[in-house]
Amino acid sequence: MKKPVIGVIPLWDDEKSSIWMLPDYLDGLRAAGALPVVLPLDVDGADIRQLYSLCDGLLFTGGHDVAPALYGQAPSPLCGIPCPRRDALESELFRLAMAEGKPLLGICRGLQLLNVLLGGTLYQDLPTEHPSPVPHVMKPPYDRPCHTVRLAEGGTLHRLLGQDELGVNSYHHQAIRRLAPSLRAEAWSPDGLVEAAVCPEHPFLLAVQWHPEFCFWSDPAGAAIFRALTEHC
Ligand code: MN
Repeated sequence: MKKPVIGVIPLWDDEKSSIWMLPDYLDGLRAAGALPVVLPLDVDGADIRQLYSLCDGLLFTGGHDVAPALYGQAPSPLCGIPCPRRDALESELFRLAMAEGKPLLGICRGLQLLNVLLGGTLYQDLPTEHPSPVPHVMKPPYDRPCHTVRLAEGGTLHRLLGQDELGVNSYHHQAIRRLAPSLRAEAWSPDGLVEAAVCPEHPFLLAVQWHPEFCFWSDPAGAAIFRALTEHC
């Protein structure tokens, strides 16, 4: 049987001016029965459409801070440098996937970017803009929970995972400030951040603030998230 092909947004290394990839994203998709393909950057509109048509689903990976200009703000001094080539590729793939209902999973930056592309805003730096005792930037190893999230009752994740609360890893200094109108919160951290969301108008657009790619091999909830994407493709 042919496996669903998942297009994976590459990571960008500013020092080497080079794309790169954490194998964990690909491993998580493969373990779920998908065939992951790392996409190129710096492709124009027609080529993006052709690449898009080769994919049964998309994974928006973690990485650079989203350019604050995309949500109408000036960058704070504590905002990380953006990655315009990623913002450009993902914006176009998102537009196509929204129009066609192609399955899309967002992880970390993926959640933040999808929120911005749908009209939401971000905290540019949590420690200064949303101080709390909840540790959102954990130290390695990352395959262990460092805070909990409460799952929205009756939501997609709640039904998928069958639990009210979930221990998650956390490695982010930005987060959703204002949730986009077309997104529905699926999970909240103890300090009230939206840590997962779905777009109910879309057949499968799920995004999480934590990193299932670091824990899918030991954590059934991490594996279930990759499987959910694969099964919708
Ligand atoms: Mn967190």
